[in-house]
Amino acid sequence: MFLVIGLLIALGLAAFVATPLLSAEGAGNSTLPVDVTPLGDLKRRRLVVYENLKDLEFEHQAGKIGAQDYQSLRENYLGEAAALMAATQEAEQLKENDAVIEREVAARRASRKIQPPPQDYVCPHCGFENPVPVKFCGECGTRITDHPRNP
Ligand SMILES: [Zn+2]
Repeated sequence: MFLVIGLLIALGLAAFVATPLLSAEGAGNSTLPVDVTPLGDLKRRRLVVYENLKDLEFEHQAGKIGAQDYQSLRENYLGEAAALMAATQEAEQLKENDAVIEREVAARRASRKIQPPPQDYVCPHCGFENPVPVKFCGECGTRITDHPRNP
């Protein structure tokens, strides 16, 4: 029974500690979009767990919490922290994969942009620069496909 009460107090305290932390963070970044990524969420939750651990330590030292409750709560928090840490590493790995894919897509887009070179549409006969890929010169009607650079 005492354990349940202690847990309830701890949870209430956690909410009390977490509230100003979260709202302060939100207010500081008001001009920026709120970090709603899984990674940002995990980091916030880890912060809260660490705050809870600090509070627990403080209360234990102040004699407000029994050794048994202290031990079991501490184990709970440490387990939670470890789980969040593992989830964070997983999310960071996913983010890293995303970055690799984004870089590859960007590289492919860039290489596509420089093709085809515009000089391929310069008429070999009159030198007219056709602005779009054409088969025949817009100025004199010469076959552009005759151009050696555009077979
Ligand atoms: Zn021409």
